[in-house]
Amino acid sequence: MHTSSGNMSVIADLEPLFGNDTTPSGRLVIAGPCSAESAAQVDRIARQLSEDGIKYFRAGAWKPRTKPGSFEGYGAEALAWISRAGQRHGMKTITEVATPAHLAAAIAAGIDGIWIGARTVVNPFAVQAIADALSRYQADVRRRLTVLVKNPVNPDIELWIGALERIWLSGIRRLGAVHRGFGAYGETRYRNAPMWRIPIELHRRIPALPLICDPSHIGGNRDLILPLSREAFEIGFDGLMIEVHDEPDRALSDAAQQITPAMLSQIMASLCRKEGKTDAGAELADLRTQIDAADRELIETLSRRLRLCDKIGEIKRYNGISVVQPQRYRELMDRIADEGKALGLDPSFIRNIFSIIHEESVRRQL
Ligand code: PEP
Ligand code: MN
Repeated sequence: MHTSSGNMSVIADLEPLFGNDTTPSGRLVIAGPCSAESAAQVDRIARQLSEDGIKYFRAGAWKPRTKPGSFEGYGAEALAWISRAGQRHGMKTITEVATPAHLAAAIAAGIDGIWIGARTVVNPFAVQAIADALSRYQADVRRRLTVLVKNPVNPDIELWIGALERIWLSGIRRLGAVHRGFGAYGETRYRNAPMWRIPIELHRRIPALPLICDPSHIGGNRDLILPLSREAFEIGFDGLMIEVHDEPDRALSDAAQQITPAMLSQIMASLCRKEGKTDAGAELADLRTQIDAADRELIETLSRRLRLCDKIGEIKRYNGISVVQPQRYRELMDRIADEGKALGLDPSFIRNIFSIIHEESVRRQL
């Protein structure tokens, strides 16, 4: 028997999300407001999106909010608005559920898909309760329902895979994962740090699982949606989930990260332009986006390394061991020169960089 802690997952025999409806590019774009705020708002946004060729409509009916007293959604009432807008404008619909009661209401309202939010995925009891409720539905209901599992707030890939497996074991085959970034204390640039290595590892572990990126919740800011979407497609994501509101600044939740349908169209056009590869400017911009992402990873790695050195420093101090251990330093320099060389890096370049890093580690330990 496979377990989620190994490299293999039980997840297999998946079917395309929402059935066979794929966009001409093969990429799925799910768009719509963070929250369904009124029947009219939902209908307006769905109409504008469908006119722009978007086929999948998202809107939240129950909103998990950090603090009490914030707008928590219109609940079951909103499901009817979402479902009606989807039917009227020929779009498939999806909403967030966190409990079996939410699930029952969403299925009763004729919603095509559900997502399990980041705050729910952290709790295996809550995910299992939804999975158990799913497994009690008729097979044809389970066969038609798309279920997307967002990553848990904390960067724990096993917890994410565990949630996906619980849902798969309930009989869901239109199953996908949504990467919405990870909560990181002190993070400033992003609302939720992308930590791309985690969804990349998820793809390695379950290659057939569709991966959707949610740049709205990663960025927390509308200016970051284009660069994050570009990075996601570069990395090989199958689709995007983007929060779209007709009056973003007046949104009742997540105002700063929502964009208008017109902005979404511009973003989609600029993501597609890249495909022609005729425009050197676009290609350069794209490469620079990738370089920026690589640099950010370098910085994250450096920071992690130096924090490890700080811990070592404490142990040395406590045990009266001197900060610089010449033998260890020589071994480290030889090892990194060899490892760098194997990856096509000049040994003297690598030695230079590591001598600066080592110097900084020593400085922090003194
Ligand atoms: C949402 O998509 O509106 C949402 C609440 O997402 P998350 O669970 O990623 O915070
Ligand atoms: Mn939101």
